[in-house]
Amino acid sequence: MKTSGARYRLMALTLNLCTKIMPLAGRLAGLALIVAFAVLAGASQARAQLAVASDFRLGIHAKKTRLVIELSQAVDYRAFALANPDRIVIDLPEIDWRMRPGSVRRAEGLVQGFRFGLVRPGTSRVVLDLKRPGYINGAFLLPPGDGAMYRFVLDIAAGRQSLGKSLASAPAARRPKPEPKTRPAARDKVSIRQPRLRFPSPARKPYLGRAKRHVVVIDPGHGGIDPGAIGPSGIAEKNITLAAARAIKAGLDRTGRYKVLLTRGRDMFIQLRHRVAIARDKGAELFISLHADTIRNKKVRGLSVYTLSERASDKEAGELAMRENKADLIAGIDLSGQASGVTNILIDLAQRESMNESARAAGFLVAELKRVTRLLRNTHRFAGFAVLKAPDVPSLLIEMGFLSNARDERSLRSAKFRRRLAGAVTKGIDRFFSRVEQADRE
Ligand code: ZN
Repeated sequence: MKTSGARYRLMALTLNLCTKIMPLAGRLAGLALIVAFAVLAGASQARAQLAVASDFRLGIHAKKTRLVIELSQAVDYRAFALANPDRIVIDLPEIDWRMRPGSVRRAEGLVQGFRFGLVRPGTSRVVLDLKRPGYINGAFLLPPGDGAMYRFVLDIAAGRQSLGKSLASAPAARRPKPEPKTRPAARDKVSIRQPRLRFPSPARKPYLGRAKRHVVVIDPGHGGIDPGAIGPSGIAEKNITLAAARAIKAGLDRTGRYKVLLTRGRDMFIQLRHRVAIARDKGAELFISLHADTIRNKKVRGLSVYTLSERASDKEAGELAMRENKADLIAGIDLSGQASGVTNILIDLAQRESMNESARAAGFLVAELKRVTRLLRNTHRFAGFAVLKAPDVPSLLIEMGFLSNARDERSLRSAKFRRRLAGAVTKGIDRFFSRVEQADRE
Protein backbone atom coordinates (compact mmCIF):
# COMPACT_ATOMS: atom_id res chain seq x y z
CA MET A 1 0.00 0.00 0.00
CA LYS A 2 1.39 3.36 -0.95
CA THR A 3 1.13 5.83 1.85
CA SER A 4 3.03 9.03 2.15
CA GLY A 5 4.12 10.46 5.45
CA ALA A 6 2.04 13.56 4.91
CA ARG A 7 -1.11 11.52 4.72
CA TYR A 8 -0.18 9.68 7.85
CA ARG A 9 0.27 12.88 9.70
CA LEU A 10 -3.31 13.66 8.88
CA MET A 11 -4.37 10.59 10.73
CA ALA A 12 -2.60 11.42 13.93
CA LEU A 13 -5.49 12.19 16.20
CA THR A 14 -3.44 12.18 19.30
CA LEU A 15 -3.49 15.15 21.52
CA ASN A 16 -1.62 14.39 24.66
CA LEU A 17 1.62 15.81 23.39
CA CYS A 18 0.43 18.38 20.97
CA THR A 19 -2.86 20.01 20.21
CA LYS A 20 -2.28 20.25 16.50
CA ILE A 21 -5.30 19.48 14.46
CA MET A 22 -5.53 18.27 10.90
CA PRO A 23 -5.61 21.12 8.45
CA LEU A 24 -9.03 21.34 6.92
CA ALA A 25 -7.74 21.05 3.38
CA GLY A 26 -6.00 17.81 4.12
CA ARG A 27 -8.80 16.17 5.97
CA LEU A 28 -10.41 14.71 2.91
CA ALA A 29 -7.22 12.90 2.02
CA GLY A 30 -6.92 11.68 5.60
CA LEU A 31 -10.48 10.54 5.48
CA ALA A 32 -9.86 8.62 2.29
CA LEU A 33 -7.08 6.77 4.03
CA ILE A 34 -9.25 6.05 7.04
CA VAL A 35 -11.83 4.61 4.69
CA ALA A 36 -9.13 2.50 3.07
CA PHE A 37 -8.20 1.15 6.48
CA ALA A 38 -11.81 0.40 7.21
CA VAL A 39 -12.19 -1.55 4.00
CA LEU A 40 -9.14 -3.58 4.91
CA ALA A 41 -10.67 -4.33 8.25
CA GLY A 42 -13.92 -5.28 6.60
CA ALA A 43 -15.75 -2.56 8.46
CA SER A 44 -16.75 -0.19 5.71
CA GLN A 45 -20.42 -0.84 6.34
CA ALA A 46 -20.26 0.05 10.01
CA ARG A 47 -18.31 3.25 9.51
CA ALA A 48 -21.19 4.97 7.78
CA GLN A 49 -23.16 4.99 11.03
CA LEU A 50 -20.40 6.15 13.35
CA ALA A 51 -21.08 9.16 15.55
CA VAL A 52 -18.93 12.07 14.45
CA ALA A 53 -17.19 14.08 17.18
CA SER A 54 -16.65 17.65 16.08
CA ASP A 55 -15.55 19.36 19.28
CA PHE A 56 -13.60 18.33 22.37
CA ARG A 57 -13.05 20.85 25.10
CA LEU A 58 -12.08 21.12 28.73
CA GLY A 59 -13.09 23.92 31.03
CA ILE A 60 -13.52 24.81 34.70
CA HIS A 61 -17.04 25.02 36.09
CA ALA A 62 -17.72 25.67 39.78
CA LYS A 63 -14.50 24.01 40.98
CA LYS A 64 -15.05 21.07 38.66
CA THR A 65 -13.17 20.29 35.50
CA ARG A 66 -15.66 19.72 32.72
CA LEU A 67 -15.14 17.78 29.52
CA VAL A 68 -17.54 18.40 26.65
CA ILE A 69 -17.56 16.37 23.45
CA GLU A 70 -19.92 17.42 20.67
CA LEU A 71 -21.38 14.46 18.81
CA SER A 72 -23.58 14.00 15.77
CA GLN A 73 -25.75 11.40 17.47
CA ALA A 74 -26.61 9.95 20.87
CA VAL A 75 -24.12 7.40 22.20
CA ASP A 76 -23.86 5.09 25.14
CA TYR A 77 -20.95 5.69 27.44
CA ARG A 78 -19.21 4.21 30.42
CA ALA A 79 -16.73 6.11 32.53
CA PHE A 80 -14.55 5.16 35.46
CA ALA A 81 -11.57 6.38 37.44
CA LEU A 82 -8.26 4.58 37.84
CA ALA A 83 -5.40 5.17 40.24
CA ASN A 84 -1.63 4.78 39.89
CA PRO A 85 -1.49 6.96 37.93
CA ASP A 86 -4.75 8.87 38.38
CA ARG A 87 -6.83 8.71 35.22
CA ILE A 88 -10.41 9.03 34.07
CA VAL A 89 -11.40 6.61 31.33
CA ILE A 90 -14.46 7.04 29.11
CA ASP A 91 -15.56 4.30 26.73
CA LEU A 92 -17.79 5.22 23.82
CA PRO A 93 -18.87 3.37 20.71
CA GLU A 94 -16.44 3.73 17.83
CA ILE A 95 -16.24 7.45 17.08
CA ASP A 96 -15.26 9.23 13.90
CA TRP A 97 -13.04 12.00 15.34
CA ARG A 98 -13.40 14.96 13.02
CA MET A 99 -12.75 17.93 15.19
CA ARG A 100 -13.05 21.40 13.74
CA PRO A 101 -9.59 22.92 13.38
CA GLY A 102 -8.63 24.64 16.61
CA SER A 103 -11.53 23.15 18.50
CA VAL A 104 -9.46 20.90 20.70
CA ARG A 105 -8.25 22.88 23.65
CA ARG A 106 -5.34 22.37 25.92
CA ALA A 107 -5.48 20.43 29.11
CA GLU A 108 -7.07 22.39 31.91
CA GLY A 109 -8.01 22.18 35.59
CA LEU A 110 -7.39 18.74 37.00
CA VAL A 111 -6.53 17.35 33.59
CA GLN A 112 -2.90 17.49 32.55
CA GLY A 113 -3.08 15.45 29.37
CA PHE A 114 -5.51 13.45 27.31
CA ARG A 115 -5.80 11.20 24.29
CA PHE A 116 -8.44 9.29 22.42
CA GLY A 117 -8.63 6.49 19.91
CA LEU A 118 -9.74 2.91 19.34
CA VAL A 119 -9.11 0.61 22.26
CA ARG A 120 -10.71 -2.41 20.58
CA PRO A 121 -12.96 -2.89 17.56
CA GLY A 122 -16.17 -0.96 18.12
CA THR A 123 -14.98 0.95 21.20
CA SER A 124 -13.34 4.35 21.22
CA ARG A 125 -11.74 5.43 24.45
CA VAL A 126 -10.86 8.78 25.98
CA VAL A 127 -8.21 8.82 28.70
CA LEU A 128 -7.72 11.92 30.84
CA ASP A 129 -4.52 12.05 32.90
CA LEU A 130 -5.12 13.84 36.18
CA LYS A 131 -2.73 16.11 38.05
CA ARG A 132 -4.02 14.75 41.36
CA PRO A 133 -6.69 12.30 42.48
CA GLY A 134 -10.12 13.06 41.07
CA TYR A 135 -13.47 11.38 40.69
CA ILE A 136 -16.35 11.52 38.26
CA ASN A 137 -18.82 13.97 39.69
CA GLY A 138 -21.39 13.47 36.95
CA ALA A 139 -21.76 12.40 33.34
CA PHE A 140 -24.66 12.97 31.00
CA LEU A 141 -25.67 13.39 27.39
CA LEU A 142 -27.48 16.58 26.39
CA PRO A 143 -29.87 16.43 23.44
CA PRO A 144 -29.22 18.85 20.58
CA GLY A 145 -29.96 22.48 21.37
CA ASP A 146 -29.71 25.21 18.79
CA GLY A 147 -26.39 23.89 17.65
CA ALA A 148 -28.03 20.64 16.52
CA MET A 149 -25.31 18.54 18.13
CA TYR A 150 -25.47 16.18 21.07
CA ARG A 151 -23.14 17.04 23.91
CA PHE A 152 -21.49 14.48 26.13
CA VAL A 153 -20.56 16.14 29.41
CA LEU A 154 -18.39 14.75 32.19
CA ASP A 155 -17.42 16.54 35.39
CA ILE A 156 -14.38 15.72 37.47
CA ALA A 157 -13.95 16.86 41.06
CA ALA A 158 -10.81 16.68 43.15
CA GLY A 159 -10.61 13.98 45.77
CA ARG A 160 -10.78 10.24 45.95
CA GLN A 161 -14.28 8.90 45.79
CA SER A 162 -16.03 6.12 43.93
CA LEU A 163 -12.74 4.89 42.55
CA GLY A 164 -13.31 1.76 40.57
CA LYS A 165 -17.02 2.47 40.19
CA SER A 166 -18.15 3.09 36.69
CA LEU A 167 -20.76 5.54 35.59
CA ALA A 168 -22.68 4.55 32.51
CA SER A 169 -25.53 5.79 30.38
CA ALA A 170 -28.93 4.38 31.36
CA PRO A 171 -29.65 1.06 29.66
CA ALA A 172 -31.44 2.03 26.49
CA ALA A 173 -33.23 0.04 23.85
CA ARG A 174 -30.48 0.80 21.39
CA ARG A 175 -27.95 -0.98 23.56
CA PRO A 176 -28.17 -4.64 22.64
CA LYS A 177 -26.80 -6.19 25.81
CA PRO A 178 -24.89 -5.20 28.89
CA GLU A 179 -21.22 -5.95 28.91
CA PRO A 180 -20.47 -9.37 30.32
CA LYS A 181 -19.07 -9.30 33.83
CA THR A 182 -15.64 -10.74 33.52
CA ARG A 183 -13.93 -9.27 36.52
CA PRO A 184 -14.79 -7.93 39.94
CA ALA A 185 -16.39 -4.51 39.93
CA ALA A 186 -13.39 -2.82 41.49
CA ARG A 187 -11.32 -3.50 38.42
CA ASP A 188 -11.20 -2.25 34.94
CA LYS A 189 -14.10 -3.88 33.16
CA VAL A 190 -12.56 -3.98 29.76
CA SER A 191 -12.81 -7.42 28.33
CA ILE A 192 -10.79 -7.91 25.22
CA ARG A 193 -11.71 -10.89 23.16
CA GLN A 194 -8.31 -12.02 22.11
CA PRO A 195 -6.34 -15.19 22.45
CA ARG A 196 -5.55 -16.10 26.01
CA LEU A 197 -2.05 -16.39 27.25
CA ARG A 198 -1.45 -20.09 27.65
CA PHE A 199 1.67 -21.52 29.12
CA PRO A 200 3.53 -23.91 26.95
CA SER A 201 5.00 -27.27 27.47
CA PRO A 202 8.64 -26.30 27.21
CA ALA A 203 9.36 -29.46 25.26
CA ARG A 204 7.58 -28.08 22.21
CA LYS A 205 9.76 -28.54 19.16
CA PRO A 206 9.74 -25.24 17.38
CA TYR A 207 10.70 -26.07 13.85
CA LEU A 208 8.80 -29.09 12.60
CA GLY A 209 7.57 -29.66 9.08
CA ARG A 210 10.03 -27.95 6.83
CA ALA A 211 7.77 -28.23 3.81
CA LYS A 212 5.25 -25.87 5.33
CA ARG A 213 5.61 -22.14 5.32
CA HIS A 214 7.20 -20.56 8.38
CA VAL A 215 4.86 -18.48 10.48
CA VAL A 216 6.15 -14.97 11.13
CA VAL A 217 4.17 -12.51 13.24
CA ILE A 218 4.90 -8.82 12.73
CA ASP A 219 3.80 -6.52 15.52
CA PRO A 220 3.29 -2.85 14.65
CA GLY A 221 3.97 -1.11 17.97
CA HIS A 222 1.33 1.04 19.70
CA GLY A 223 -2.00 1.85 18.00
CA GLY A 224 -5.41 3.34 18.64
CA ILE A 225 -5.43 5.29 21.85
CA ASP A 226 -1.70 4.72 22.35
CA PRO A 227 0.11 6.83 19.75
CA GLY A 228 3.64 6.00 20.84
CA ALA A 229 6.20 8.70 20.13
CA ILE A 230 5.36 11.85 18.18
CA GLY A 231 7.85 13.17 15.63
CA PRO A 232 8.71 16.83 15.03
CA SER A 233 6.27 16.95 12.11
CA GLY A 234 3.48 15.62 14.30
CA ILE A 235 3.48 12.09 12.91
CA ALA A 236 2.72 9.34 15.42
CA GLU A 237 4.88 6.26 15.87
CA LYS A 238 1.79 4.02 15.63
CA ASN A 239 1.30 5.02 11.98
CA ILE A 240 4.96 4.51 11.05
CA THR A 241 5.00 1.05 12.62
CA LEU A 242 1.84 -0.04 10.79
CA ALA A 243 3.16 1.15 7.44
CA ALA A 244 6.50 -0.59 8.02
CA ALA A 245 4.75 -3.80 9.11
CA ARG A 246 2.78 -3.83 5.88
CA ALA A 247 5.94 -3.30 3.84
CA ILE A 248 7.71 -6.17 5.62
CA LYS A 249 4.69 -8.43 5.15
CA ALA A 250 4.67 -7.61 1.44
CA GLY A 251 8.39 -8.41 1.22
CA LEU A 252 8.01 -11.74 3.00
CA ASP A 253 4.86 -12.67 1.07
CA ARG A 254 6.72 -12.28 -2.21
CA THR A 255 9.15 -15.07 -1.28
CA GLY A 256 6.32 -17.58 -0.83
CA ARG A 257 8.20 -19.08 2.13
CA TYR A 258 6.20 -17.50 4.93
CA LYS A 259 2.80 -17.16 6.41
CA VAL A 260 2.89 -13.61 7.71
CA LEU A 261 0.43 -12.25 10.24
CA LEU A 262 0.15 -8.82 11.80
CA THR A 263 -0.94 -8.34 15.41
CA ARG A 264 -2.99 -5.39 14.18
CA GLY A 265 -4.01 -4.41 10.67
CA ARG A 266 -5.52 -1.08 11.60
CA ASP A 267 -5.19 1.84 13.99
CA MET A 268 -6.23 -0.05 17.10
CA PHE A 269 -4.87 -0.52 20.60
CA ILE A 270 -3.67 -3.97 21.67
CA GLN A 271 -2.44 -4.84 25.14
CA LEU A 272 1.19 -5.92 25.31
CA ARG A 273 0.43 -9.39 26.63
CA HIS A 274 -2.13 -9.89 23.89
CA ARG A 275 0.50 -9.16 21.28
CA VAL A 276 2.56 -11.94 22.82
CA ALA A 277 -0.51 -14.18 23.01
CA ILE A 278 -1.29 -13.65 19.33
CA ALA A 279 2.22 -14.76 18.38
CA ARG A 280 1.91 -17.91 20.49
CA ASP A 281 -1.64 -18.63 19.41
CA LYS A 282 -0.70 -18.44 15.73
CA GLY A 283 2.29 -20.71 16.27
CA ALA A 284 4.80 -18.01 15.34
CA GLU A 285 8.34 -19.17 14.69
CA LEU A 286 9.54 -15.60 14.75
CA PHE A 287 7.99 -12.50 16.28
CA ILE A 288 9.12 -9.00 15.32
CA SER A 289 7.83 -5.91 17.08
CA LEU A 290 8.37 -2.60 15.29
CA HIS A 291 8.98 0.75 16.95
CA ALA A 292 10.42 4.21 16.29
CA ASP A 293 10.85 6.00 19.56
CA THR A 294 12.06 9.35 20.75
CA ILE A 295 15.08 10.04 22.88
CA ARG A 296 16.10 13.16 24.79
CA ASN A 297 19.19 13.78 22.71
CA LYS A 298 17.76 14.80 19.35
CA LYS A 299 21.07 14.19 17.59
CA VAL A 300 20.96 10.45 18.24
CA ARG A 301 19.86 8.50 15.21
CA GLY A 302 20.01 5.05 13.71
CA LEU A 303 18.34 1.67 13.84
CA SER A 304 18.76 -0.85 16.65
CA VAL A 305 17.55 -4.39 17.33
CA TYR A 306 16.58 -5.57 20.80
CA THR A 307 16.20 -9.00 22.31
CA LEU A 308 14.95 -9.90 25.74
CA SER A 309 17.07 -9.76 28.81
CA GLU A 310 16.23 -9.14 32.43
CA ARG A 311 19.24 -6.92 32.64
CA ALA A 312 19.39 -4.10 30.13
CA SER A 313 22.61 -3.78 28.13
CA ASP A 314 22.80 -0.07 28.88
CA LYS A 315 20.86 2.79 30.42
CA GLU A 316 19.25 3.87 27.15
CA ALA A 317 17.96 0.35 26.47
CA GLY A 318 16.57 0.08 29.98
CA GLU A 319 14.77 3.42 29.71
CA LEU A 320 13.38 2.49 26.35
CA ALA A 321 11.96 -0.78 27.65
CA MET A 322 10.44 1.04 30.60
CA ARG A 323 8.69 3.47 28.27
CA GLU A 324 7.46 0.77 25.92
CA ASN A 325 6.15 -1.31 28.81
CA LYS A 326 3.87 1.57 29.79
CA ALA A 327 1.60 1.14 26.76
CA ASP A 328 -1.15 -0.48 28.80
CA LEU A 329 -1.11 2.35 31.30
CA ILE A 330 -1.39 4.87 28.50
CA ALA A 331 -4.46 3.10 27.18
CA GLY A 332 -6.25 3.25 30.52
CA ILE A 333 -5.94 -0.40 31.46
CA ASP A 334 -5.90 -1.14 35.17
CA LEU A 335 -2.96 -3.38 35.85
CA SER A 336 -3.31 -3.47 39.62
CA GLY A 337 -4.96 -6.89 39.62
CA GLN A 338 -2.71 -8.58 37.11
CA ALA A 339 0.06 -10.91 38.05
CA SER A 340 3.27 -8.98 37.70
CA GLY A 341 5.46 -11.65 36.25
CA VAL A 342 4.73 -14.47 33.86
CA THR A 343 7.94 -16.29 34.48
CA ASN A 344 8.46 -19.46 36.41
CA ILE A 345 11.11 -22.10 36.18
CA LEU A 346 9.53 -24.05 33.33
CA ILE A 347 9.05 -20.99 31.25
CA ASP A 348 12.56 -19.92 32.08
CA LEU A 349 13.95 -23.00 30.39
CA ALA A 350 11.96 -22.54 27.22
CA GLN A 351 12.81 -18.88 27.28
CA ARG A 352 16.52 -19.47 27.44
CA GLU A 353 16.33 -21.52 24.27
CA SER A 354 14.29 -18.96 22.40
CA MET A 355 16.52 -16.19 23.69
CA ASN A 356 19.44 -17.85 21.95
CA GLU A 357 17.40 -18.13 18.76
CA SER A 358 16.33 -14.51 19.11
CA ALA A 359 19.93 -13.40 19.39
CA ARG A 360 20.82 -15.41 16.30
CA ALA A 361 17.95 -13.88 14.33
CA ALA A 362 19.03 -10.43 15.51
CA GLY A 363 22.53 -11.10 14.14
CA PHE A 364 21.18 -11.94 10.69
CA LEU A 365 18.90 -8.94 10.65
CA VAL A 366 21.59 -6.50 11.72
CA ALA A 367 23.95 -7.85 9.04
CA GLU A 368 21.36 -7.14 6.33
CA LEU A 369 20.04 -3.88 7.76
CA LYS A 370 23.46 -2.25 7.94
CA ARG A 371 23.55 -2.36 4.15
CA VAL A 372 20.48 -0.16 3.82
CA THR A 373 20.37 2.14 6.81
CA ARG A 374 22.41 3.82 9.46
CA LEU A 375 22.72 1.83 12.66
CA LEU A 376 22.95 2.93 16.25
CA ARG A 377 26.25 2.03 17.94
CA ASN A 378 26.02 -1.38 19.71
CA THR A 379 23.21 -2.17 17.33
CA HIS A 380 22.09 -5.35 19.04
CA ARG A 381 20.92 -4.47 22.53
CA PHE A 382 19.15 -6.22 25.37
CA ALA A 383 16.34 -5.11 27.64
CA GLY A 384 13.25 -6.36 29.45
CA PHE A 385 10.60 -5.50 26.90
CA ALA A 386 7.26 -7.01 27.94
CA VAL A 387 6.37 -7.67 24.33
CA LEU A 388 9.36 -9.99 23.90
CA LYS A 389 8.38 -12.33 26.71
CA ALA A 390 6.83 -15.19 24.77
CA PRO A 391 8.72 -18.07 26.34
CA ASP A 392 8.83 -20.22 23.23
CA VAL A 393 8.87 -17.82 20.31
CA PRO A 394 12.11 -16.19 19.16
CA SER A 395 11.28 -12.50 19.49
CA LEU A 396 12.91 -9.27 18.37
CA LEU A 397 12.11 -5.64 18.68
CA ILE A 398 13.36 -3.29 15.97
CA GLU A 399 13.68 0.37 16.79
CA MET A 400 13.72 1.50 13.18
CA GLY A 401 15.11 4.91 14.08
CA PHE A 402 14.32 7.81 16.37
CA LEU A 403 11.36 10.07 15.73
CA SER A 404 13.15 12.66 17.88
CA ASN A 405 15.74 13.00 15.12
CA ALA A 406 14.61 15.04 12.11
CA ARG A 407 16.56 12.95 9.58
CA ASP A 408 15.37 9.64 10.97
CA GLU A 409 11.83 10.95 10.95
CA ARG A 410 12.11 12.01 7.32
CA SER A 411 13.37 8.54 6.36
CA LEU A 412 10.68 6.72 8.30
CA ARG A 413 7.97 8.78 6.67
CA SER A 414 9.20 7.73 3.25
CA ALA A 415 7.54 4.68 1.72
CA LYS A 416 10.68 4.10 -0.35
CA PHE A 417 12.84 3.91 2.78
CA ARG A 418 10.39 1.55 4.44
CA ARG A 419 10.49 -0.72 1.38
CA ARG A 420 14.28 -0.78 1.55
CA LEU A 421 14.09 -1.64 5.23
CA ALA A 422 11.56 -4.37 4.47
CA GLY A 423 13.86 -5.82 1.82
CA ALA A 424 16.71 -6.12 4.32
CA VAL A 425 14.46 -7.58 7.02
CA THR A 426 13.22 -10.17 4.49
CA LYS A 427 16.79 -11.17 3.63
CA GLY A 428 17.72 -11.43 7.29
CA ILE A 429 14.69 -13.60 8.02
CA ASP A 430 15.51 -15.77 5.00
CA ARG A 431 19.00 -16.34 6.32
CA PHE A 432 17.68 -17.13 9.80
CA PHE A 433 15.24 -19.77 8.55
CA SER A 434 17.74 -21.25 6.10
CA ARG A 435 19.99 -21.87 9.04
CA VAL A 436 17.08 -23.36 11.00
CA GLU A 437 16.19 -25.66 8.12
CA GLN A 438 19.78 -26.74 7.75
CA ALA A 439 19.99 -27.50 11.47
CA ASP A 440 16.83 -29.60 11.15
CA ARG A 441 18.37 -31.65 8.35
CA GLU A 442 21.61 -32.33 10.19
ZN1 ZN B 1 7.45 2.40 20.62
